[in-house]
Amino acid sequence: MTEVLAGHGLVKKFGATTALAGVDMAVGERDSLAIMGPSGSGKSTLLHALAGIIRPDDGQVLLRGERIDRFGENRLSALRRTRFGFVFQSGQLLPELPAEENVALPLMLEGVPRRRAVQRARRWFAPLGLDGLEQRRPGQLSGGQAQRVAIARALAVEPDVVFADEPTGALDQTTSMEVVRLLTSVIREQGAALVMVTHDADVAAHCDRILHVRDGQVSTHSQYTVT
Ligand code: ADP
Repeated sequence: MTEVLAGHGLVKKFGATTALAGVDMAVGERDSLAIMGPSGSGKSTLLHALAGIIRPDDGQVLLRGERIDRFGENRLSALRRTRFGFVFQSGQLLPELPAEENVALPLMLEGVPRRRAVQRARRWFAPLGLDGLEQRRPGQLSGGQAQRVAIARALAVEPDVVFADEPTGALDQTTSMEVVRLLTSVIREQGAALVMVTHDADVAAHCDRILHVRDGQVSTHSQYTVT
């Protein structure tokens, strides 16, 4: 399997607190990794370091073999817009825009003309079970539908990696399972990689592998080598 994203020896301190104490991880194409661990164990810090949102104090982050942890701010922000997709606990959709324009937004930000961006956005609706909901505004969608629109938006730029931070945290169990099943299956079809923080073991079980973090260190990692 081709390695997409890797973290080597990641260290991050906040004052006297060591949030990451030397974490190693890797994900490949069509590969999904769940990050689990108790509150305060370093899960969000790890996700943010991998996604170029915070800079690690030590260690390396490699995207398809290229070191991105020392990129300047402008390069990092361009990378986040074009090569990464993000899904958060609540979809953070723009309430005044129809679903299809919410999905098209990252493309429009990259300069794709509105009509073409919306056309490209529409292709994600059927695979995510959202057929017919293109014109709905976020307020007219259920929680699960809104999260699926947020997933479509994360995929719109055809990113190398989708980062999801508690993507089912605001959903009931049945809807959570439906959303994570769709998320992991479209990621595989797309050939992207998924890095997901979740506290829900049933959600994590949909991923190919689980990384357990404790006190800023990997406590267990299902044995599997991405080459
Ligand atoms: P988790 O996501 O597993 O709950 P975090 O990565 O948010 O854990 O936090 C790991 C540790 O780092 C915690 O002790 C937390 O208080 C600390 N921490 C995280 N972010 C900051 C910050 N911006 N400033 C200070 N301490 C932080």
